[in-house]
Amino acid sequence: MRGGCRCGNIRLSWQLVDYSLVPRQCDCEFCRSRELVWVSKQGAPLDIDVMVPEHYAVVHQGTGRVDFHHCTRCKQIPVATSVIDHQYYAVVNVACLHDRAVFAPPRPVDLTSATMDESIARRRANWCSQVTLRIR
Ligand SMILES: [Zn+2]
Ligand SMILES: [Zn+2]
Repeated sequence: MRGGCRCGNIRLSWQLVDYSLVPRQCDCEFCRSRELVWVSKQGAPLDIDVMVPEHYAVVHQGTGRVDFHHCTRCKQIPVATSVIDHQYYAVVNVACLHDRAVFAPPRPVDLTSATMDESIARRRANWCSQVTLRIR
């Protein structure tokens, strides 16, 4: 499954074969105001390519443990990552996937009430774990 930001600066290539995933609508202010809805899958390798680093920024919110990869040209955030034990974990913004219509409607989740240990455990269990980030 391919995707990326609207202008093509941040490109995603995701080896996903499970279309039964239910996207997660995070309840935090940051995600709500940007209409960010996330999907992820263990064991489905994800490649992230940034074509023009000048139009690329990493932004943070809240505890700052998650990197939101922001295209400063088209203002979209196609992907977020978190490093746990030196390994990248990632969630993909459904709105930035070409085949987003295959997914069910998003389910709201309250991620803000989780403790740090809980959120790390959940990322390990649910987020994409074979992540390659290339900045050209
Ligand atoms: Zn863009
Ligand atoms: Zn959020």
